[in-house]
Amino acid sequence: MPTPIKDVPVPRRMLGLERDHRGYPVPFNVQRGQDGTPYFTANDHMKTLVILEKNLCPLCGQPNVKDELWFVGGPLSAFHPHGCYIDQPGHEACIAYALQVCPYLITAKYTKRLDDKQVKDADREAMLIMIDPTMIPDRPKVFVMARTDAYKITQGSHGMFSLHPVRPWLDFRVWRDGVELDTETAARIIVDIAVEFDKANPV
Ligand SMILES: [Zn+2]
Repeated sequence: MPTPIKDVPVPRRMLGLERDHRGYPVPFNVQRGQDGTPYFTANDHMKTLVILEKNLCPLCGQPNVKDELWFVGGPLSAFHPHGCYIDQPGHEACIAYALQVCPYLITAKYTKRLDDKQVKDADREAMLIMIDPTMIPDRPKVFVMARTDAYKITQGSHGMFSLHPVRPWLDFRVWRDGVELDTETAARIIVDIAVEFDKANPV
């Protein structure tokens, strides 16, 4: 069972963030309405530019630790050779916190983040194969946080950035429904996903 959200300790670097009406820290990168209301499902594009330029953690807004860039996404983003990310990497503690409290990571399909207003049809098809772990039917819903020390950025015609981490990963941790999996379970699930993906995408 996942730890109840209210019992998950807020990481040190996120303690200074404003809290929402429920008392949860509002991540640095979220879009805000004109009255300041945070929209947790949307990223602020201007903040994204600052985050990329200054190599900040998108959650707490503080500088990333050298050589410790943690990406979070589905297993295809992590383990497909062309897997990439739209979210910038952050601190290990901040990402692990999000994996326990963010409803988009603990319950819903991650691609809800890529809502229709942001992505054109043609772009979506091209992007989802690499970004969307939910393209594989009946697969276990797991998320992978993985560490690298560098990444490259490309920008599509739609203006969205794709981040391409340098692999192999230096470390990774696998989560399902807000709970971190042990190494053996994680390995089994990832192998299953790879087999299923290969079946669905014959060379
Ligand atoms: Zn952080």
